[in-house]
Amino acid sequence: MSRRYDLHTHSTASDGTLTPPELIALAAAKGVDVLALTDHDTLDGLTSAQAAADAVGLILSPGVEISVTWGRRTIHIIGLGIDCRNQALRDGLAGLSAYRYRRAEVIGHRLSREGIERAFEGARAFSNGRLIGRTHFARFLVQQGYVSNEREVFRHYLVKGKPGHVAGDWASLEAAVGWIRDAGGQAVIAHPGRYCFTRAKLLRLIGEFVELGGVGIEVVSGNHTRDESLLFARYAQENHLLASVGSDFHRLGNPQIGLGSMALLPSFCTPIWTDWEAQRLPRAVSG
Ligand code: AMP
Ligand code: MN
Ligand code: MN
Ligand code: MN
Repeated sequence: MSRRYDLHTHSTASDGTLTPPELIALAAAKGVDVLALTDHDTLDGLTSAQAAADAVGLILSPGVEISVTWGRRTIHIIGLGIDCRNQALRDGLAGLSAYRYRRAEVIGHRLSREGIERAFEGARAFSNGRLIGRTHFARFLVQQGYVSNEREVFRHYLVKGKPGHVAGDWASLEAAVGWIRDAGGQAVIAHPGRYCFTRAKLLRLIGEFVELGGVGIEVVSGNHTRDESLLFARYAQENHLLASVGSDFHRLGNPQIGLGSMALLPSFCTPIWTDWEAQRLPRAVSG
């Protein structure tokens, strides 16, 4: 019987709302066989996720979702099957976490000029001392009643042209793919449909990515329509990229994005997990 894969998920180690063990328990309950925990710019959830996965017999691919600045835009590159002890990767992610903290201070300052007080402190409380991101600001602003939901916070405050926006200064594509490869992982372009790139720009990204040693693209994503998945499946085929599947699950109660309940890959795709049986997955370990 074929296995059920979900290779893009978040926990409280970044901007998800379930702890890694809660996420693993939910994945197991949903019938997921192989899960990748891919928190933004951190490996902190992987050790407890591995212990929980071992306890329920779920296979965990240690993962990460790295923030990248490419062509003056922010894109996300997923690393799958990474060795968490790899120093190049750990150092690179430490730099991004430090940048996130500085960026959050600037976002807080900009929001205070709009009359929104103590947003940095509020967002930091939501992040619970872990990695801080825009989602934590969104949760704070909703809690304070400035807007009714997180999507609206992004629309009115946190995207380009809005008061709390800060242009990203993340890792280069070369660095991100390099860290993932150094750690023995597979680099995957996350949710290509989210970037609203022209065909030419997306093909340019794919070209550079492949040149750097990237191997996969997310074809089926919680962020994609059926038509988008089919389009990216074709891009994968034409560019000899492996195809990945991930919900981008962050929290319960988002009906669009269910953990482990995505469409199947089109049959002409080569799944990213094709060789995983042969090459034993690395385990997430501490240190
Ligand atoms: P950051 O990496 O801190 O800039 O935050 C990016 C995260 O914000 C994404 O991973 C999503 O979880 C969330 N996000 C981005 N855009 C939106 C949106 N329009 N509505 C809700 N959440 C969003
Ligand atoms: Mn997120
Ligand atoms: Mn993303
Ligand atoms: Mn994600």
